[in-house]
Amino acid sequence: MINVDLTAANLLKNGFHVVRCKTAKEAAEYCLAQAKPGMSAGSGGSLTLQQLGLLEALEAKGVEVIYHYGHDLTPAERRFNMRRELMADIYFCSANAITEQGWIFNTDGAGNRVAATILGPEKVYIVASTNKIVSDLAAAERRVAEIAPYNCQRLHFDTPCALTGVCEDCDSPDRSCRVQVTLKRPPRTVDITVVLVDEKLGV
Ligand code: SF4
Repeated sequence: MINVDLTAANLLKNGFHVVRCKTAKEAAEYCLAQAKPGMSAGSGGSLTLQQLGLLEALEAKGVEVIYHYGHDLTPAERRFNMRRELMADIYFCSANAITEQGWIFNTDGAGNRVAATILGPEKVYIVASTNKIVSDLAAAERRVAEIAPYNCQRLHFDTPCALTGVCEDCDSPDRSCRVQVTLKRPPRTVDITVVLVDEKLGV
């Protein structure tokens, strides 16, 4: 049985800030309050953030949201904006898993999200539903192997798992599992807040 209180306590012990929210609405309001008009914001492409409606709300508030997806961007523009996101004032993303010992685990294709949480904006907010909490790192890796096929299907990637629903540790050019990072402590120059949401969000 996963212990959310223990996870929150261990995240704090490890140097992360922790905010507990009961609902997605509460989490969205908290995140929105962290950005001021005129600031710039980057984000990981995240179903959780989509469900919060956060990026639209930030734009409505007068925050410049930098996008690296959608918006008819060319590959070169996408890469350029990923790099611009590293220089934003604030960054929002989710996590693939959080372990009970208070470690944050993410797998990326391009590495933009993990880069931003390591040496990007000074303020990073990681919004994660408590259903993403797992017992340990091995369970976090298993979780990614389970959810990555779903994400590949959702994003129309040409990978074997998008067809079969099962990870085949592929060599596909579209492979989304290329970079894995575990944040055991916040990197020295980054202030990371984990927003734990009781409501189920993301995958
Ligand atoms: S390694 Fe390849 S097959 Fe496995 S989940 Fe990632 S993209 Fe899918």
